[in-house]
Amino acid sequence: METLITDNIEIAASFLRSGELIAFPTETVYGLGARIDSDEALQKIFLAKGRPSDNPLIIHISSQGELSLLTDQIDELSQKLIEHFWPGPLTLIFKKKRSISNLITAGLDTVAVRMPAFDLATSLINKVGIPIAAPSANRSGRPSATSCEHVMNDFNGLIPCILKSPSTNSIDCLTKYGLESTVVNCSGEQPILLRMGSIPFEEIQKVIPNLIHYQTLNSQKESQSILSVIPLSPGMKYRHYSPQAKVILIRSLSELPLDNESKAFTSSGFIGLEASVDSHSFQNIFQKSLLCSSVEEYGANLFSFFRDCDSEHIQTIFCETPPRNGLGNTIMDRLIKASLD
Ligand code: AMP
Ligand code: MG
Repeated sequence: METLITDNIEIAASFLRSGELIAFPTETVYGLGARIDSDEALQKIFLAKGRPSDNPLIIHISSQGELSLLTDQIDELSQKLIEHFWPGPLTLIFKKKRSISNLITAGLDTVAVRMPAFDLATSLINKVGIPIAAPSANRSGRPSATSCEHVMNDFNGLIPCILKSPSTNSIDCLTKYGLESTVVNCSGEQPILLRMGSIPFEEIQKVIPNLIHYQTLNSQKESQSILSVIPLSPGMKYRHYSPQAKVILIRSLSELPLDNESKAFTSSGFIGLEASVDSHSFQNIFQKSLLCSSVEEYGANLFSFFRDCDSEHIQTIFCETPPRNGLGNTIMDRLIKASLD
């Protein structure tokens, strides 16, 4: 099959309407979408990605009105989160309506929903006329795709269409955040952060102070009863975000025996923060390096850097660990998962 790259929303929407998959950009990462009312179309997502069927999908909507198709449970807490963070990179988990396909929810009685803050994505959903189920547009286990080029690398010949932004000529233009959405479970008594993401935990806690992190829950013995009734995110048990290169986390460059004569790092990459590094000291040591001026830039470039290193057949990527707060914690979460064997 030939993969069409287009900036024409009408063409992309017609593929979706006819039950085909398309990849499209959002403010987080590229999504691989199918219409929610066709099991045949949804099945194609799992096949194309190589995604385990017990890992549920996020439904993307273009207006709050569409939420009533998916859930009857919009309580005060969810309403607060919606008002503050939608449209945006926050996925909320609700009790699902019976009509939603089990392929989307992997048999859970809950459904994950998000309204993207990227006009092209919401216009696309709006044109199709029904919500779109879309996980990240990468082969399972790989770093998420943050440009049209990344999607091509994973799915060229496997999907019929990639929608790209008309405002960018090049196919290597990156999505804004470069990290997936934050996932919060609102289906129980206690709101729980299930996946760290583009919106930091602290930002959400400002709006709902009783938000807790699933890791905190996990470490509290008395919480076992809550854990048994609230489904955690099935996707969290899988290896994720991994380049082919080995990822090694370092607190600072001083942990490496660097000098200008060093040949040990020629097939290596380095990504870190500008502020903590003397850029002259290692310029010719790594095959590829990226110094970011902020944690936001680090997050936006991380997966792209992983993929660039892979295309240069780099064997080891050293990643400087970011500060352990805000978006730094999200980046740390991705780095840890990417570094697992
Ligand atoms: P992806 O779209 O590939 O970024 O992954 C979506 C994430 O949302 C995965 O980690 C899923 O396990 C999680 N997710 C989707 N639906 C649910 C749900 N009903 N309950 C808990 N987690 C979910
Ligand atoms: Mg994913």
